[in-house]
Amino acid sequence: MKNLENYDNATQCVHAGQLEDQFGAVVTPIYQVSTFKFRDADHGASLFKGEEDGFIYTRMRNPTVEAMEKSVAMLEGGSNAIGCASGMAAVHAVFAHLLRAGDHVVCSNGVYGPTSVILENFFSKFGVESTFVDSSDLNQTKAAMRPNTKMIFIETPGNPTLAVTDIQATADIAHANNAKLVVDNTFLSPIFQKPFELGADVILHSMTKYINGHADVVGGVIIVKDNEDYKTFRKTMNLIGGVIDPFNAFMVHRGIKTMKLRVEKAAENAMKIAEYLEKHPKVDRVWYPGLKSFPQFDLHHKQSKGDGSMIAMELKGGLAAGKELMNNIQIIQLAVSLGGVESLIQHPASMTHAAMSKENREKAAITDGLVRVSIGIEDCDELIAAFESALKFA
Ligand code: PLP
Repeated sequence: MKNLENYDNATQCVHAGQLEDQFGAVVTPIYQVSTFKFRDADHGASLFKGEEDGFIYTRMRNPTVEAMEKSVAMLEGGSNAIGCASGMAAVHAVFAHLLRAGDHVVCSNGVYGPTSVILENFFSKFGVESTFVDSSDLNQTKAAMRPNTKMIFIETPGNPTLAVTDIQATADIAHANNAKLVVDNTFLSPIFQKPFELGADVILHSMTKYINGHADVVGGVIIVKDNEDYKTFRKTMNLIGGVIDPFNAFMVHRGIKTMKLRVEKAAENAMKIAEYLEKHPKVDRVWYPGLKSFPQFDLHHKQSKGDGSMIAMELKGGLAAGKELMNNIQIIQLAVSLGGVESLIQHPASMTHAAMSKENREKAAITDGLVRVSIGIEDCDELIAAFESALKFA
């Protein structure tokens, strides 16, 4: 199907990007090859010169990968996308492509732990400076801007406390400084939030999460707004090489077909579970953007179409109670990651955010008593029953 731009996301999820092949395959097959034959020497030379369109070598382009990339690009409203070997490969490629020695980055302190660590410990080696701010407070973002700030990097809702950043206002701050706004849109998926419509310049995802949705692939993606930017990004990616392979791209494309159904059901479950947890006597506090008590409820709903299925909570009994909950809960598995059909529970301070400096963790409100849950698509009453039984131990 062509010209899917004006169709609903549900239809785009099923059809976008599909390759029309010579056999009439209904889904894009896996082109599990590293290299492609040239018709003759002139053909090879013209492909390398870019005079003719075609495939050369899978690190550069592959039909299965390209089909998946087109599908994600359409869902995000971008011109094109680059499939990466992991979400962190996408983060790395965005920094490597857009930054050079002497540049400065303003980064939200609510980003995925390794994203802040790669700036603090790795890009600092190449002369890139970074300042971490609570990006939900626009004054902090403005105050951190310098003449050499080339990028603002945010995740909203943030990880793991779900702090919301105003995407449009942050884009305005970036653009007034000739900087780019990069948004990690992993937590809400393209179904619930469209950062390009709010001024973002580059979007990335860990496709390991909602986009693939089945906890069986590690992958990432970078989506760009304009095609000229795409061409230069693609050249960088050809050099640094952290691309997704055809099999994983096929798996992700398969996962995308049900993404709208999955994220909507998970969000419906999460809303009911957040309401249940908020009333539970052993729970001190619950963070979920769908709750009326959520501090940035209005801002979140101004810029997003859904609340996602990530819940953070603090138990009255602190870390000890959190451990009892994690060790005793049924159905909900004790594991990091998120966005799959299965529900997961984890402890950010000792797990996903353990590599972050304690100082940055504290600035990001990641207390030792905080527990993070990713709600899946299981039966909601059974998930609530699992919490009810396990919280008896907490
Ligand atoms: N961004 C966010 C918001 C994440 O949660 C993660 C992983 O948990 C990443 C990026 C990194 O993705 P990956 O694990 O696919 O490298």
